[in-house]
Amino acid sequence: MAHLSESSNNDDINMNNLHIEDKKNDVRRSSVLDEGTLRENESESKHEQRLDALKNAYGIMLNSVGEDAMRQGLLKTPERAAKAMLFFTKGYEQSVRDVVSDAIFDEECDNMVVVKDIDIYSLCEHHLIPFFGKVSVGYLPNKRVIGLSKIARIVEIFSRRLQVQERLTQQIAQAIEEAVQPLGVGVIVECVHMCMVMRGAEKVNSRTTTSAMLGNFRHNAKTREEFLIIGRNSSF
Ligand SMILES: [Zn+2]
Repeated sequence: MAHLSESSNNDDINMNNLHIEDKKNDVRRSSVLDEGTLRENESESKHEQRLDALKNAYGIMLNSVGEDAMRQGLLKTPERAAKAMLFFTKGYEQSVRDVVSDAIFDEECDNMVVVKDIDIYSLCEHHLIPFFGKVSVGYLPNKRVIGLSKIARIVEIFSRRLQVQERLTQQIAQAIEEAVQPLGVGVIVECVHMCMVMRGAEKVNSRTTTSAMLGNFRHNAKTREEFLIIGRNSSF
């Protein structure tokens, strides 16, 4: 178990320092487009440090639940789990601004744009257990549109971070609002939370629906209604 006890003594692995080094000026941070980029532009060696720290943590976790982390079937589990966790949280590596910056176009379009049934896989920040489902995003352009595929990318970046569904919904709406300054934005997120399902707290089929309505999606009942009809996600 030697490798497990080394982690706390290793001065090279200091996640607090990593965060501080990466902080940019506060003005930039105040936009949702720049939020959460905790691991942006990291070197290969920092990535390796994270992987090692996580591997150690998962080894401790295996022993802590009463398992033998050295038995054959579990030997590579800490490494696999560490890689998986970094993948599930890779939304920290990129800002939404980088993704949308080259995909905003002037366009005299005044019809509602809706992209629905966007698959979403995220981790609940309270239990580190997945929640997943579908997202529907709509907006009413005001002389600017965003590339359609970028809407799914925005959803992906925010969802590949530790999340609560309420904040995720709000962040997606705010990002669209900041990126194209439309007349209004609507976002509907419907998810199954495995932390509820697996712990038996709720019925197996229970879903959580959250929505965020900005601009005339909030103030104009007809616009909102149109979005709620067009933007309804398929069941999953
Ligand atoms: Zn949870």
